[in-house]
Amino acid sequence: MTPLLEVQDLHVWFEDAAGNEIAAVRGVDLEIDAADRVGLVGESGCGKSTTILAIMGLLPSNATVAGRVLLDGEEILAGGDRTIRPHRWRDIAMVFQGAMNAFNPVRPIGVQIADAVQIRGGRTRKEAAERARELLELVGIPRERAGGFPHQFSGGMRQRAAIALALACEPRILLADEPTTALDVMVQAQIMLLLEHLCSEQGLALLLVSHDLSLVLDLCPRMNVMYAGEIIERGPSDALADTPTHPYTRLMFAATPDIFDESPLASIPGAPPSLDREIVGCPFQPRCDRAFERCVNETPVLKHSQEEQEAACHLNDLGRKASPDSSPANRTTGVRNGAA
Ligand code: ATP
Ligand code: SF4
Ligand code: MG
Repeated sequence: MTPLLEVQDLHVWFEDAAGNEIAAVRGVDLEIDAADRVGLVGESGCGKSTTILAIMGLLPSNATVAGRVLLDGEEILAGGDRTIRPHRWRDIAMVFQGAMNAFNPVRPIGVQIADAVQIRGGRTRKEAAERARELLELVGIPRERAGGFPHQFSGGMRQRAAIALALACEPRILLADEPTTALDVMVQAQIMLLLEHLCSEQGLALLLVSHDLSLVLDLCPRMNVMYAGEIIERGPSDALADTPTHPYTRLMFAATPDIFDESPLASIPGAPPSLDREIVGCPFQPRCDRAFERCVNETPVLKHSQEEQEAACHLNDLGRKASPDSSPANRTTGVRNGAA
């Protein structure tokens, strides 16, 4: 079956102010089916936002993009704005990182949503105002609040309104970039329930971008783990949590707080590699507690690792596990980039 949205071998390079080339996304593949909920997780700077901005065709002019983005099997990236624009907001919509703070402070929320409905959806002013009230209701905000200004809304309400704005043209896929950052846990849970409701009741497909593994685990049956611009493990979220086949996935979960687990919280030593120079070998090697000689020079590729999982780790070729064994023989952690 053709996926609703397919990303094939996506690469993004930025040129920074000093003229350096930053390889922010390096060969990402993703698939999302109708009403699917897929997570994209990883540390800050690993390329999550860049990936979804590339899908939307919204990267700044210092970015160069290569690869394919297919909607219903039709390539939409190659023709640039001309081919993406008809689908932007109508088929694929996005909740931007920090969107709840992006409302114009001097215009009522309902008017700002109505603007989007009128401009993108081709409705009259009156129809757009009514649709804005419907959208606010859909995300759990009483329609009477449409005349309120952003400062009269709580953070959670503004985030709901940002989701309503993204739904203005009834998209089939929502790309949500850290939709709960800066919200307290109760409001986070409400936003997650809202997204789940929109997927199950409205048939919306969701790509949830977050560095909060527990949120993604709760909401998304499938998960992609990104590191240094690449997907390094993917598969069913429960399987990644229970039996990770990449050491980075294991360490990410070990570094996630769990109220039922009293053991000390782990942290991952070191930092991701700089993306403005060529990465030789495995990008995680300087931080990996399972690294061995081959990891220094040979880049692992994403391949089948366990049942429905895929991972980019040489251990899987050797039938070894991602968790440390008792003998640290052969470890070469710290060989490159001076990481611990
Ligand atoms: P976070 O979790 O902090 O939001 P992220 O995974 O979304 O991080 P990106 O924002 O996609 O990460 O950034 C990926 C890399 O691309 C980083 O090294 C970042 O500095 C770089 N980058 C992003 N936007 C630009 C830009 N406009 N110009 C130059 N470099 C950029
Ligand atoms: Fe660690 Fe080597 Fe696997 Fe990379 S390839 S994650 S360095 S064991
Ligand atoms: Mg981001």
